[in-house]
Amino acid sequence: MRIDIISVVPDLLNSPFAHSIMKRAQAKGLLEVVVHNLRDYTPYKHAQVDDYQFGGGAGMVMMPEPLAIAIETLQKDRPYDEVIFMTPDGPTWNQKAANTLSLKQNLMIICGHYKGIDQRIRDHYITMEVSIGDYVLSGGELAAAVLVDSIGRLIPGVLNDETSALSDSFQDDLLSHPVYTRPANFRGWEVPEVLMCGDPKKVEAWRYEQALKRTEERRPDLLQHEE
Ligand code: SAM
Repeated sequence: MRIDIISVVPDLLNSPFAHSIMKRAQAKGLLEVVVHNLRDYTPYKHAQVDDYQFGGGAGMVMMPEPLAIAIETLQKDRPYDEVIFMTPDGPTWNQKAANTLSLKQNLMIICGHYKGIDQRIRDHYITMEVSIGDYVLSGGELAAAVLVDSIGRLIPGVLNDETSALSDSFQDDLLSHPVYTRPANFRGWEVPEVLMCGDPKKVEAWRYEQALKRTEERRPDLLQHEE
């Protein structure tokens, strides 16, 4: 999968994909993340990409032309499955959406800044809008990093043991069961006995029970399936 990200602060995205699973995904050739500086595409002097709002009011708006040029330039090289705009007024990101996008070939992500981007770009180029939660960040870069990480780890072959992702929270609409590691006794706090019994069926049953209990307590909304 290839993911192109358009940003006015590309340096913010130097680190998130240079470590751990994202680094490994790229080394394995399963994921390519390319970050583009929007200022490289602007036709305006002084690399201008934003201007005052029509109608007045505080805050600048990202101009349509640099974004249109950047999107069209990238689209000349490959078709994109989705052109995504990170925005707090979009549908909230979730694991189901991450699963769906992990099977795509090419994604483009637009990071907003200031008051956001000119509405005409949203109307004519954007195919999907995504919020990462009900709060406002200064820019779309951190949100884009969240998106890429959550998608990237689900690309088939990226995780060494893919069953690990299947037991994570939100797969199957359940939160994850509690996890423990050595030592079995830490300051007098014992690991549940069942995890040491060596019977995989009993362990699996206990984990399911714990996942269900945790979901009922913390996120009962996940258990309310539509008929
Ligand atoms: N004026 C916009 C509003 O109220 O909806 C907020 C603009 S925000 C300061 C600048 C940019 O940060 C947005 O265009 C968007 O790209 C990004 N951003 C901020 N919060 C976000 C969130 N919760 N999810 C995704 N992107 C977000």
